[in-house]
Amino acid sequence: MKKSIDIQSMIYRNYLTSSLVPIFTIEVVLLLLYFIINFYISEKNQLALLEEVTQNLQEITSREVTNINNQLKEISRYAVLIQRDHEAFFSNTDACFFPHGEPAFGVHENRVYYKLKNNGGGSLYYSGSTVMGDAEKFKARCSEILDPLLVSIVETVPIITQAYLNTWDGMNRIYPFMPNAPAQYGPALQMEEFNFYYEADAKHNPERKPVWTGAYLDPAGQGWMVSNVFPVYRDDFLEGVGGLDVTIDSFVQNILNSSIPWNAGTFMVDKNGMILAMQEKVEQLIKLRELKTHVYNENIKKTVEKPEEYNILMSKNESIKSQMQRIFDSKDHISEMSIDGTLYLVSQEIVTETGWRMITLIEESLIFSPINKLKELSKKIGYIAIGVMILFYIIFFLFLLRKSRKLTVKIATPIEMLSTLTRGLGESLKTKKLEAVGIDEIDHLSQNFNTMVIELETRTDALVNSQLREKMRGKEVEILERLAVTDGLTELYNRRKLDEILTVESERTKRFNNPYGIVLLDIDHFKSVNDTYGHQVGDQVLVDVAKLLKLHTRETDVAGRWGGDEFLIICPETDQNGLIKLAESLRKHIERYEFSVVNTKTSSFGVTVYQQGEEIKDMILRADKALYAAKNNGRNRVEFQ
Ligand code: GH3
Ligand code: MG
Repeated sequence: MKKSIDIQSMIYRNYLTSSLVPIFTIEVVLLLLYFIINFYISEKNQLALLEEVTQNLQEITSREVTNINNQLKEISRYAVLIQRDHEAFFSNTDACFFPHGEPAFGVHENRVYYKLKNNGGGSLYYSGSTVMGDAEKFKARCSEILDPLLVSIVETVPIITQAYLNTWDGMNRIYPFMPNAPAQYGPALQMEEFNFYYEADAKHNPERKPVWTGAYLDPAGQGWMVSNVFPVYRDDFLEGVGGLDVTIDSFVQNILNSSIPWNAGTFMVDKNGMILAMQEKVEQLIKLRELKTHVYNENIKKTVEKPEEYNILMSKNESIKSQMQRIFDSKDHISEMSIDGTLYLVSQEIVTETGWRMITLIEESLIFSPINKLKELSKKIGYIAIGVMILFYIIFFLFLLRKSRKLTVKIATPIEMLSTLTRGLGESLKTKKLEAVGIDEIDHLSQNFNTMVIELETRTDALVNSQLREKMRGKEVEILERLAVTDGLTELYNRRKLDEILTVESERTKRFNNPYGIVLLDIDHFKSVNDTYGHQVGDQVLVDVAKLLKLHTRETDVAGRWGGDEFLIICPETDQNGLIKLAESLRKHIERYEFSVVNTKTSSFGVTVYQQGEEIKDMILRADKALYAAKNNGRNRVEFQ
């Protein structure tokens, strides 16, 4: 069976399914599309931006590195120049020329042989462990010839801070002049102990080309240093190693000051991962402080390299260490690393001349920050749209609810009224008529209902009328019948009825032999009442006498008006004595009765019994005779015959 439902729920559901649901679906689909498209676009933008950043970053770092590389190459070219000059000096032992004048030498208290005064050239130090023969003194003096080139290169190339020559037997010539070289270097120098010497020797540098050292602490007191060193051979004998010193600060500073966009952090490491320079923000990031300070608390006897903790490949942070190692091994220009859960875009550019790497870190979220901001904005717009949509739906829902209620009332009220009225149809037909509500179908129904009610009322009226008429007719007949046997004035039976009863009684007596008799009475001197007081008073006397007769006869007796002032009483089952008694009693009642106007009135009675087989008229005649006798005998008396 189909479940029944009230009109409001039906209309409400219809509204809901026909308007709310489709609009809601469309809105949800639109919102979904909005979010999907936004997501797609921002993903695409992110990729495009990443590509652009990568490209720009590569361009910037590559420019910086190329610049450094060019500077280093230039230094290498100067090194070749000096190398050739020095080799020429060692291959020609006759040459001795003093461009800055004859130098003065002395022996320091630590037995070091050294140049006493700065004559505009370099300083000279000869290790105390070397026995100073003629050859050594000659080398010390005549190597003054090397000074002009050293001077001009140091003076013209800003990033070259020092130029020097170290010989196999412990001689050091260095420009600019070191006034306290014996104290600075100490009593003896073992050249093979220093990287700026052994890195150029036959074992490390068989090609005899200028090479770059790693970062080391300069024994001459210039701080952290890299050197371009080159061997100086006389045939196959390594006379010494020359070098051009570049303080790392002097050119790496440019990089550190260079501001790459996206809040990038830059640092430079040598080929072994030792930090050459590092911006402070990177120090904080990878939890490593660069060693910038250097303290010369004693003479440096061999190469002092930076401690391991300044090597990013030796980082105590395992994650940073392994990721750096991966980046080092891959040599990829662009890669990624994660530090403390934050993703960084990593670019590395290798300085081909030295194997150094310029490494730049950019926090990826910063790159994407404009896109993320846009993403947030579009998300916000989306959420606002959702909010507005919810609000719209609440309002729309309430609106529909109101509308559906209104419509329900409009439709349901007449229907409810119809139902109430049809329920009440049985009780009362006089109903209110239904008003029109403006809905065709319902108005038609109401009209039909009204027509039906009118028709019903008409028919019911007709039915009731006909029933009434039927009833009335019955009554009329009854009245007519009654009138036919009733005397109009006294309402007693009339003569006709009395004749009928007499016939019936006579027949009964004939059959059952029951005695019955009659009493005929006549008011005495009635005529005089009429004459004296008028007919109306006479009529009233007749009415009063009739009442008395009714009142004082038995149920079975029948009293009727015989005509004029004569009355007949038929008494079944009554014999002569009974009849005389009845007549006598009636006579007394009339005699004693106080009539209005006339006061007293008497009446005379003729009594007789029916005799078996006789005609009725004979019995009447006998009663008449008895009455006549009563009149004659003085009236107000009873006579029997
Ligand atoms: P008596 O004692 O001999 O009977 O004298 P009486 O005057 O009664 O004489 P009678 O019986 O002959 O008179 C009857 C009168 O009754 C005659 C008539 O005018 C009057 N009468 C007859 N019918 C009516 C009636 O219906 N109404 C009235 N008021 N008078 C009637
Ligand atoms: Mg009379």
